[in-house]
Amino acid sequence: MTIAQTSTEHGAPFAELDALTIGTVAVPGDKAYDALVSPWNLAIPVRPAAVLAAHDAQDVVDAVQFAARHGIRVTPQATGHGPMAALTTELLVTTKGLDEVVIHPEEGWARAGAGVKWLKVVEAAAPYGLAPLSGSITDVGIVGYTTGGGLGPMARTYGLAIDKVRAIEVVTGDGVLRRVTPTEHPELFFALRGGKGMLGIITAIEFDLVHQPTFYGGSLWFDGSDAPAVIDTWRAWSAELPEEGTTSFALFQLPDMEGVPPMLAGRLTLSVRYVWTGSADEGERWFAAMRAAAPVILDDVADKPYTAIDSVHTDPLDPTPAYEAGNVLTDFPQEAADALLALTGPGVASPQILVEVRQLGGAFSRPGEHPSAFASRAAAYSLLIVGISEIPGVEDHAAAILDAVAPWVGEHRLPNFTFTPEEYVDAYDELTLARLRRAIRTYDPDGVITIGGVLG
Ligand SMILES: Cc1cc2nc3c(=O)[nH]c(=O)nc-3n(C[C@H](O)[C@H](O)[C@H](O)COP(=O)(O)OP(=O)(O)OC[C@H]3O[C@@H](n4cnc5c(N)ncnc54)[C@H](O)[C@@H]3O)c2cc1C
Repeated sequence: MTIAQTSTEHGAPFAELDALTIGTVAVPGDKAYDALVSPWNLAIPVRPAAVLAAHDAQDVVDAVQFAARHGIRVTPQATGHGPMAALTTELLVTTKGLDEVVIHPEEGWARAGAGVKWLKVVEAAAPYGLAPLSGSITDVGIVGYTTGGGLGPMARTYGLAIDKVRAIEVVTGDGVLRRVTPTEHPELFFALRGGKGMLGIITAIEFDLVHQPTFYGGSLWFDGSDAPAVIDTWRAWSAELPEEGTTSFALFQLPDMEGVPPMLAGRLTLSVRYVWTGSADEGERWFAAMRAAAPVILDDVADKPYTAIDSVHTDPLDPTPAYEAGNVLTDFPQEAADALLALTGPGVASPQILVEVRQLGGAFSRPGEHPSAFASRAAAYSLLIVGISEIPGVEDHAAAILDAVAPWVGEHRLPNFTFTPEEYVDAYDELTLARLRRAIRTYDPDGVITIGGVLG
């Protein structure tokens, strides 16, 4: 690859980085550039001055040291499920190539490179009856998801993904590759779990698995006209649900396209998502009340292997131009449901593809064994809105939904569901912010890691 010696608006000689590293370095105009930078979320313009596809941890060390020498900033990207345009303008390091996965079945833990998506771990762990605390879709990257807390479909039983982390290998902003555990660099162990990519570029992560060969669950679908009655039942039913059960509902307006079952396409539907981690019989008994809430149009709730976990949330797999918004709620009373339905329910022309409410609580709300920078344990519900960015009015409509539920909005957002640098800061309480800033001063004194800069 030919890289101009000193070109680019940031004045960094990326040819030098190319010579230092084994991985591919590309600048705009190079053949490899578009494929390396393009995020899953097609609506976010990710156009860095240069991208390095890291071959190994040493490449990441060289990239961070190079950035420091030339006064530019670095941002990591794995799958591009959660990019922010403002943070990806200088040197992007994609960790896609760091793809090792090792399962330790006897001790029940896994090690994964920073480019690995959950699917690979789910499939590697399943033969041993083990499962990771993955998220709503196994296409998301392990590191981005985990460093943002990691709220998955078994969260009420087992807590957050950060609660299972054993060790993290990270190249901090000072260009040093460090192994971080509860006893080695404990301040980094705190900051990296919840603080996303603020401190450095993670190269590998180790975490405990849970024994969960199967689960009882999936999604149960109703016609949109029954949404008020079903949500009413869901609120009362979920309030009694033991911690073996994790649930959410989503108002969907799925397009009429290949892969969408005809009974769900081109209309408003409501999906109740459910995972029961105890016995299938008990899970079925608990779910009977939801099955009786209204006429069911599709029932995909059954005893399944953990490898079928994506059938619970039915998230989109293909890259999507998504506009996303959300917040946490302290409560979800009748008035909040009415406010939501007034903008998204039957008879309303909502432009959103999905509006979901996840019930939190249970193990989610209890601090993990080791303190972390995740500051949202008090949240009772998570609200997420996803629209197609090109649909006119989608942004204003999402803002109107958030305004309507403002009386129930909680204190700190989930880091994984923040979509602007300002929202990012809003995910932390004052003490956590102070600890994150101190860790940045210690481990990234020159502010090389772009994301850390959002804290000011
Ligand atoms: C369809 C969909 C479903 C989702 N479901 C859930 C869910 O159920 N629960 C949940 O908690 N979240 C969920 N999320 C949010 C998701 O966890 C975040 O967007 C997460 O940051 C994605 O990580 P990524 O590596 O896949 O994305 P990327 O866009 O590649 O990375 C996003 C951010 O993660 C951090 N990061 C990535 N790689 C590194 C690295 N090597 N070192 C340090 N930091 C790094 C950085 O802050 C980076 O900006 C979902 C997102 C989507 C689009």
